[in-house]
Amino acid sequence: MPFDAADLTALIALCRAEIDRHGERLSFLDSAIGDGDHGANMRRGLEAVYREREVIAALPLPAALERIGLVLVMNIGGAAGPLYGTLMMELGRGLPPDADMADFATTLARAVEAVARRGRSGPGDKTLLDVLYPVQAEVAGRAAPARIAECAQSAARATEMMLARRGRASYLGARSVGHEDPGASSCALLTATICQYLKE
Ligand code: ADP
Ligand code: MG
Ligand code: MG
Repeated sequence: MPFDAADLTALIALCRAEIDRHGERLSFLDSAIGDGDHGANMRRGLEAVYREREVIAALPLPAALERIGLVLVMNIGGAAGPLYGTLMMELGRGLPPDADMADFATTLARAVEAVARRGRSGPGDKTLLDVLYPVQAEVAGRAAPARIAECAQSAARATEMMLARRGRASYLGARSVGHEDPGASSCALLTATICQYLKE
């Protein structure tokens, strides 16, 4: 699938718009089991990437992804900033020039592992990794974008019944059960936005 600077610019604009549109909901989820700022954090991060979109999209894809990661670390803040930042920076650093889908799948798997190391967390801890792991598995299995989006959304919903073992939500112990994880939710939203664009 050809993917050029115009695609990346469009995708950045879409991600920023979706995060903006769902910001209240993300902060609402975070106020139940965290400190209520996840929507604001994500808005700040995506807004910063959006401001730099022309410069970013002019870079070769690996460098562009790495730059997005850096801008996200510097602007999302909180716990989620370094995690989203690690994901994108590792993707950028790992992708060869002219990457094909196989390269992308391998690099994504490594990037998700890097996020897990960074957060010292794994499957079932009720974090954004509970979306990243299944998404990565679907990408490795060459699932269609619509299927990957669907999987991300149901993985985010499945965090509702999990007991948080990492991040602020873990302070609540059993009281974290019954609320969807905000990071898992933003991760599913971004995945769905990207997949929707790729299938068009
Ligand atoms: P903060 O908790 O610092 O306010 P955010 O509200 O922006 O940061 O992000 C919270 C989200 O970050 C959580 O919902 C969770 O998905 C993710 N998160 C927090 N800590 C970890 C961790 N150690 N590993 C993986 N994800 C984490
Ligand atoms: Mg928070
Ligand atoms: Mg915070």
